[in-house]
Amino acid sequence: MGNYSIAVLAGDGIGPEVIEQAERVLQSIGKRYGHTFNLQSALVGVAAIEAEGDAISDATMQLCQRSEAILFGAVGGIPRFEGPNSKIQPERALFRLRKELALYANLRPIHPLKALLNASTIKPEVLQGTDLLVVRELTGGLYFGKPSEIRETSQGLEAVDTLPYSEVEIERIVRTAFELARGRRKKVTSVDKANVLSTSRLWRRTADRIAPDYPDVSLEHLLVDTCAMQLIRQPSSFDVIVTENMFGDILTDEASMLAGSMGMLPSASLGTRETAHGFLGLYEPIHGSAPDITGQNKANPIAAILSAAMMLRYSFNLKQEAQAIETAVERVIEADYRTVDLYEPGKETVDTKEMGRLIAEAILV
Ligand code: NAD
Repeated sequence: MGNYSIAVLAGDGIGPEVIEQAERVLQSIGKRYGHTFNLQSALVGVAAIEAEGDAISDATMQLCQRSEAILFGAVGGIPRFEGPNSKIQPERALFRLRKELALYANLRPIHPLKALLNASTIKPEVLQGTDLLVVRELTGGLYFGKPSEIRETSQGLEAVDTLPYSEVEIERIVRTAFELARGRRKKVTSVDKANVLSTSRLWRRTADRIAPDYPDVSLEHLLVDTCAMQLIRQPSSFDVIVTENMFGDILTDEASMLAGSMGMLPSASLGTRETAHGFLGLYEPIHGSAPDITGQNKANPIAAILSAAMMLRYSFNLKQEAQAIETAVERVIEADYRTVDLYEPGKETVDTKEMGRLIAEAILV
């Protein structure tokens, strides 16, 4: 029986709708296992720009610093705040959180449920047995390297981006992947472009140096282009994939298609800061604010609910409770309830609130 502090940043669009259901599920877990979750809400994204003048205020940053975990919905989706000419972009909130909380490891598990194999655009027989975890480096590489600019030369404009990685940064994320593989099927696939890029050659060399510290885990190297192909050809061949920031950005979106709907996929971003029960982390569905369905009670809340399960596992070390949420989701799907994004003839279509209620209830029976 424990006490856990969570900063809740529901954000914009469908963010508040799906986070409300994740909170409901946490209440069920609290009730069943006798835990107290202290949820403190704050504004983020467009909501924060309008009310507080920034995508995330200093006070909200301090709340996050004090908390053991952050449950995040989504930001953006309001046209006047979109695009490079907008003064403050809602996404700034996420970049600030990642940077200031040093959230260097982004985890995206992809485990299509048996009952949903037909919901994917990939053939069910290819998907069968898929259960993989992508570990993406989140605070280095091309997205942060300097210089990054468009500049004038005597021959006209040119642009440059910079892809730096230190051995320390690579070692930290590769070790995270090995540790996580130990709790799974004990295989790490390190993805790079070592035939072309120097950073990738250092990446590969570092992974090889670390591998002997984990003799129970096997390591294979794959070029990023081969990995992109293999994810569609034989996704069940992967256990843990570890890769740098931009490759991870692209591969995780590709891999998300294996699960049928973005509304099913959770994520965790873990930092180095230890808390009373584990590591500080930010947990969010992989989807955005979905302006096309906002306010219609149509969004699938499962990605947010499964993000709360990841929070229990990684920040609070509550493995049994995390599993209870995952089992409840599976049971509700197997009982043929679907939100509209998972529509299948013959199944019962339910709205956001009803899906949340069914899952929260399944935890208690
Ligand atoms: P999106 O993920 O919001 O939506 C893509 C499509 O998937 C839409 O048709 C939407 O209706 C559907 N969808 C998404 N989540 C769903 C759910 N839970 N249930 C049912 N259907 C769902 O992506 P987008 O339309 O490209 O982006 C909209 C806004 O969200 C943009 O401003 C973008 O910048 C922002 N965004 C934010 C985050 C984040 O906060 N982490 C991530 C991605 C996009």
